[in-house]
Amino acid sequence: MKGGYALLIELDNDLVLNVKRKEFLLRRGFYLYSGSALSGLECRVKRHMRNFKKKNPITNLKETDLIKHHWHIDYLIPSAASMAIVYWECQFRTECLLVNFLKEEGAEPIRGFGNTDCKSKCGGHLLKCDTGNISETINLIRPFLKKMKLQEYVMFQSSTSIGNINT
Ligand SMILES: [Zn+2]
Repeated sequence: MKGGYALLIELDNDLVLNVKRKEFLLRRGFYLYSGSALSGLECRVKRHMRNFKKKNPITNLKETDLIKHHWHIDYLIPSAASMAIVYWECQFRTECLLVNFLKEEGAEPIRGFGNTDCKSKCGGHLLKCDTGNISETINLIRPFLKKMKLQEYVMFQSSTSIGNINT
């Protein structure tokens, strides 16, 4: 399956993240990371969720479930207090389109985060969102998906503090 996805991430504390000789200061709050997988979308989504669960005390995972850090986002996910993933099937890359849509709505890209391969001058593929919870952060994407006529799936939702989000 090909497509795009968004990770909705809650940080409950300010975080200084050192990744590959760059330092990012992330204030507590809600973030959206925009990604694409032109092959193996479901594998990508599961990989991100495994990374979240790795440091989540409510789950018990085996050694073999641990993943290697490869992308900027891999370093951030284990610090998330909660995380959800929305994904959609699509034949082309949506990551930069979504970032630009959200920038027009006022979201702030984190400069240099996750956009090493970006050719669209996004500034960053992680955005700080002015929202109060994960559900509101998901709602930021919905007008984009509607405009693009993309069907969303909410595969996972992980937090003890918010209710279930039905797929
Ligand atoms: Zn981009």
